[in-house]
Amino acid sequence: MSYFLTDDQKQIQDTARRFAQKDVEPLAQQIDREERTPRSLVDKAAELGFFGLTIPEEYGGTDQGITTACVVLEEIAKASPAFAGLLSVEMILCPGVVNLLGNAEQKQRILPKSATGERLMAFSQTEPAGAGNTAVHQTKLVAHGNGYRLNGAKLFCTQGEGETYLVMARTSRDGQEGYGVVIVEKEQPGFSVDSYEDKLGWRGTNTGPISFTDIDVAPENVLGDLLTGNADFAPVNQVSFMGHAATSLGCAEGLFDKTLAYIKQRQLYGAPMHNLSPISFKMADCFNKIEACRSLLYNATRMADEKTMTLPMGSMCKAYVCETAFEVCNTLLQFWGGSGMMDSTGVNRYFRDARTKLIAEGATEMHTSGVAHLVLGLSQPMYEGRRTSLGG
Ligand SMILES: Cc1cc2nc3c(=O)[nH]c(=O)nc-3n(C[C@H](O)[C@H](O)[C@H](O)COP(=O)(O)OP(=O)(O)OC[C@H]3O[C@@H](n4cnc5c(N)ncnc54)[C@H](O)[C@@H]3O)c2cc1C
Repeated sequence: MSYFLTDDQKQIQDTARRFAQKDVEPLAQQIDREERTPRSLVDKAAELGFFGLTIPEEYGGTDQGITTACVVLEEIAKASPAFAGLLSVEMILCPGVVNLLGNAEQKQRILPKSATGERLMAFSQTEPAGAGNTAVHQTKLVAHGNGYRLNGAKLFCTQGEGETYLVMARTSRDGQEGYGVVIVEKEQPGFSVDSYEDKLGWRGTNTGPISFTDIDVAPENVLGDLLTGNADFAPVNQVSFMGHAATSLGCAEGLFDKTLAYIKQRQLYGAPMHNLSPISFKMADCFNKIEACRSLLYNATRMADEKTMTLPMGSMCKAYVCETAFEVCNTLLQFWGGSGMMDSTGVNRYFRDARTKLIAEGATEMHTSGVAHLVLGLSQPMYEGRRTSLGG
């Protein structure tokens, strides 16, 4: 895809592609096998400037927007969708929340270190009661001194090896219940990463449960208004969903490219396998589906960058692109026959990563139900007339 990218975006795309092929691809199988991403690879992505792409220049970034960030994620996902998933959290979600909710001092303290990769960030919302069921979340902030005291436990925190955590917690003030975001540094007493999960897909995202015991949260570590924090960063969620859609798109493309090469050289019944019309028709169908995803995604990112987004385009992309990318990967896996089942070929990794995307950062049904509410006129877009992009 290059037909509407600017020259700068094409240059970054080229850098990301070379990084993916030279540095990520050789490690992709190891990341999947060992369930860990080497910090050196994360650092290299930071050195290339990827972490600063959505951060304003005054806070150490290059403020190039969501389209550029998605182009980078798409390229990297062609080699390792799992690594791209981890990067999406660093490049879009975490800096986006700080940039949107933080005051100038907080942004100055956190964003430059995020832009250079000096401090990796993580976003922690999900609890055993369910990611979206926030009304019953148990992680609590209780007023203490001039700040708060944090207690609770979270599940499935991507980048459990992070250094700065954005933690969602319940609180109350003057009899009013609230739910907002606080900053917790991994060095704080009472913070603990308990273990790392062994997962079906997105292996290597260093995902695990974390817990907080009597952690003191100073007022300067509260992001925005604690009573409204959750709703306040809905616009960031929407662009973050686009980042995840970009990794699914790259995942489908990565497997498509490998499968195309395979069916041209694989001989079946005395001829290259692509001579079989069911195979070639299905390849054409996968190609169409990938193009449809690309059009939806980059139209959405363009709207986000231009701040003209009036529909929950991130949810629409996340649901449609991730489901379609999984269908594509499922179809392509079949062409590899028994080889597709073997971990050694690296093929089923794409299938597993694509499947994981139907749940991580909100199950498809959660996104679809938000869109359905809007379509049926049961709710208003939460972000209408508000910032939809990070520097907005
Ligand atoms: C690899 C991975 C990485 C993750 N990283 C993070 C992270 O960094 N930080 C973090 O906070 N969380 C993270 N999560 C958690 C993730 O966001 C949740 O798993 C996801 O949102 C689903 O929530 P749940 O697991 O609580 O499922 P539940 O909320 O229990 O939902 C179960 C099922 O119910 C259905 N459902 C849910 N909501 C609706 C609805 N509104 N309408 C209809 N059906 C519905 C869906 O089929 C869903 O799969 C991660 C998850 C995975 C798998």
